[in-house]
Amino acid sequence: MNQEKNKPQLSIVMPVYNEEQNVFPLFQEITKALKNYPHPYEIIFVDDGSTDQTHTSLQKICRQDDRVKSVIFQGNFGQTAALSAGFDLAQGDLIVSLDGDGQNDPADIPMLLDILEQGYDVVCGWRKNRKDAFLSRKLPSFIANRIIAWVTGVFIHDYGCTLKVYKKEIIKNIKLYGEMHRFIPAYASWAGAKVTEVEVNHRPRIAGISKYNILRSYKVILDLITVKFLCDYSTSPIYFFGTFGMVLCGAGLLSAIVTLVEKYYQGVFVHRNPLILLAILLFILGVQFIMIGLLAEILIRTYHESQDKKTYIVKEII
Ligand code: UDP
Ligand code: MG
Repeated sequence: MNQEKNKPQLSIVMPVYNEEQNVFPLFQEITKALKNYPHPYEIIFVDDGSTDQTHTSLQKICRQDDRVKSVIFQGNFGQTAALSAGFDLAQGDLIVSLDGDGQNDPADIPMLLDILEQGYDVVCGWRKNRKDAFLSRKLPSFIANRIIAWVTGVFIHDYGCTLKVYKKEIIKNIKLYGEMHRFIPAYASWAGAKVTEVEVNHRPRIAGISKYNILRSYKVILDLITVKFLCDYSTSPIYFFGTFGMVLCGAGLLSAIVTLVEKYYQGVFVHRNPLILLAILLFILGVQFIMIGLLAEILIRTYHESQDKKTYIVKEII
């Protein structure tokens, strides 16, 4: 009973990679921001294989405050993996994620929580006045955000902002790969969650260096293709590959008919007509696509059935 009472209702998750000078000030800021929070909460740092003194700093903080937990990775698995580990460990009904470098402002957390209370499942921060370099960060990010919003159909301004609040049910159902933490709002919204955004404060980095550069952008585009494909066709891949296949087979058939017409009405010999090669090529390609679709169907069934995964999400049963 007592244990139940002390269970954290809110979990703050932060990925940290070589942030030795940032973790302690951040911890202090979070404690200050949550001074008036009426329920127990926990702070989870995930050390993503830091090679500086981050580990020692975290040990100190954990000794000082038993609401703080630290997960130490064996190596550098990336920000998405670090966030995932934090979400897995989190016990709270509400989960907040933020960057571990102090660029997100913990003072915004109560405001995000208030907005969630108004009936949302996910509240995303929007770094409207972002304090990063323009050419290498803000511009690519602006373009990426527009593309993501357009492709996913979920219109928020700043997918890349780590400062977000989620309800536990939402986040625990999403598996993250690659650099896909930025797509959580899209996944959540597709699953029927109510997603909104709010402007948050953003600060320049004071200590340590940024871990990313412009090369990150191309990964975002590849991730986007994966996310979109998985969302639209993950339970019926044959519709995707099969449509291509049928169109190609159709084009092949058309090309063959034209060849025959030219033979009987214009006397063009089939073996002298390149259209017959096109017909064969298109037809073979089309059949291949349909076969790939069938293979994908087998894979998807193995995936769902071996893990007893459902192809739907139930909200409640009355
Ligand atoms: N980070 C991480 N693993 C990585 C790279 C980054 O855990 O491989 C953390 C980093 O410590 C920071 C957050 O992810 O807390 C965002 O990284 P960064 O500040 O370098 O990105 P930026 O703000 O420049 O986009
Ligand atoms: Mg940063």
